[in-house]
Amino acid sequence: MSLRLGMLCALLSISVAAAAAPAPAPGTAPLLVIHGGAGVQRAGLSAEEERAARTALRSALLQGHAELQAGRPALAAVTRAITVLEDDPTFNAGRGAVFTHDGRNELDAALMDGATRRAGAVAGVQRVRNPILLAQAVMERSAHVMMVGQGAETFAAEQGITLVDPSYFRTEKRWQQLQRALQEEKAGQAHAELETARHFGTVGALALDAEGKLAAGTSTGGMTNKRYGRVGDSPVIGAGTWADEGCAVSGTGWGEYYLRTAAAHEICARVRLAGASAAQAGREVINGMIPALGGDGGAIVLTAKGEVGLPFNTEGMYRGWIGADGVPHVAIFDDEALQLPGQ
Ligand code: ASP
Repeated sequence: MSLRLGMLCALLSISVAAAAAPAPAPGTAPLLVIHGGAGVQRAGLSAEEERAARTALRSALLQGHAELQAGRPALAAVTRAITVLEDDPTFNAGRGAVFTHDGRNELDAALMDGATRRAGAVAGVQRVRNPILLAQAVMERSAHVMMVGQGAETFAAEQGITLVDPSYFRTEKRWQQLQRALQEEKAGQAHAELETARHFGTVGALALDAEGKLAAGTSTGGMTNKRYGRVGDSPVIGAGTWADEGCAVSGTGWGEYYLRTAAAHEICARVRLAGASAAQAGREVINGMIPALGGDGGAIVLTAKGEVGLPFNTEGMYRGWIGADGVPHVAIFDDEALQLPGQ
């Protein structure tokens, strides 16, 4: 290649890289966006549970934001916010995870770094207190992207990740949900009426740090009454979790449909290739493609420009964001207006 051609190529690749990571709008970064699942139902939520959920969301936002304020990268904010939600029994991740058909808790999680597209994921772990930290270890301390079951737990032990007795994850509320799901299954009810169709409590977080870099993470117990080692979308890179240079997504919902649409990647592909905004790309997939196939749920979307999209097609989605001013914004139900950054 001639020198001149070489220089031209170098210049072109610089401008492509610059176009892929547009600067965040002034005042928006650092930015953290979270969800705690899209299966919330007004009727099923007591005032006390609602208060606890809002408190937990605020706490996750504040703790994740503190990482960004301290100058740490987007990844640190995402893992911090998710561990807060995993430790809180309100959500279907870590403690408080849903039960499988056999009465176990099998946990899945994934983490992705947008700037480098490094990723780590785990599925079907039963003794890892914070699956998102194991996903991070897979990403940072192994040559692999995904580990499952016993092998993932052996790696966790080797890496000094905290392991707990499986009873740590159990809550009475989730146990009762499994009992109802088993009864409904026996009665042969239609899917829309099933307990499994009503409760998505997965947690997720996205962050944009001061350098304009994005990260995404998701952690879940999956779906109540799941069988046969079922794994949903959450730990599958591109389905429930995705981050690239310009866009990050974490999904929550009926995972099979997120797998079939590669939902998280599909949303970011629309941002990258079609120039769609976070809100528009999220809406097209979450309110278009997924329900058209018969699925439901929601997602959080964050772009490198600092745009936020929080689409869902259910009665509510635990959700929130926090920006440069450090004020947490939280909402649950579909009729709650949530002021979004830059709007
Ligand atoms: N998407 C998760 C799964 O299918 C469930 C959820 O969002 O709560 O495993």
